[in-house]
Amino acid sequence: MLTAGILRVVVGMGHISTTTNKQIFIDCDSMDEDKFIAADELLLGDIEQEIYSEIADVVERTIAQMESLPDDAADSDYDAALGPLNDALASQIGYAMFLHQQDVSDLAMRFAAGTMPRMRSPAQLMAAGRISGETIASHFERRSPSRFMANLFGQGRKQIEAQVRAAIASGVWAIAGNTQQITWDEPAKWKWLTKEDEMVCGICRPLNGVIFTEPKEKAHWACRCELLPSAGA
Ligand SMILES: [Zn+2]
Repeated sequence: MLTAGILRVVVGMGHISTTTNKQIFIDCDSMDEDKFIAADELLLGDIEQEIYSEIADVVERTIAQMESLPDDAADSDYDAALGPLNDALASQIGYAMFLHQQDVSDLAMRFAAGTMPRMRSPAQLMAAGRISGETIASHFERRSPSRFMANLFGQGRKQIEAQVRAAIASGVWAIAGNTQQITWDEPAKWKWLTKEDEMVCGICRPLNGVIFTEPKEKAHWACRCELLPSAGA
């Protein structure tokens, strides 16, 4: 992707169609925090979209099945209806991050000194991505039901689609965050940066700009904050 000091980030709005793709050009020699965050958001957004389109059929089948269940359906009925979606999500998140781990590290190294980490398997990546003390893998572990599934008992289309998108964002951002952290060459300081928009939650808002002396996990489900190496005091 690197051509004469220019990193080309291709933003997939749809998938194959080039007419719906935008291209932005980022000058690598001056990749500051804002440029890195913008490029990271495009890369991870693209991966999220890729995962969603891989599981779109399963999402539709699950919604149809959930909607066909009676109001007094048993937990075991919900469990059976949601199981395939749970498992498809876990495997597609792991697989997409497996395919893109090098892209994530490549981009990280444009921002700060780093070393390409050893390739990790989908299962290793799912266990490495963490959100406030829990691994991404654990959210999808079948404990009849998994934590992901338990949120969706009795829910309809809107809630299922929203939870699927949140689960994908959670997995992609947590695993990418961990991948970036092991790529960068042990920075002494880390800066927490939120998106600084109205979507930032109450947990993360006070953390914006805060400097840490050790890497941190994502604070919560679907957290899109960045933790960047920092020279600041
Ligand atoms: Zn956050």
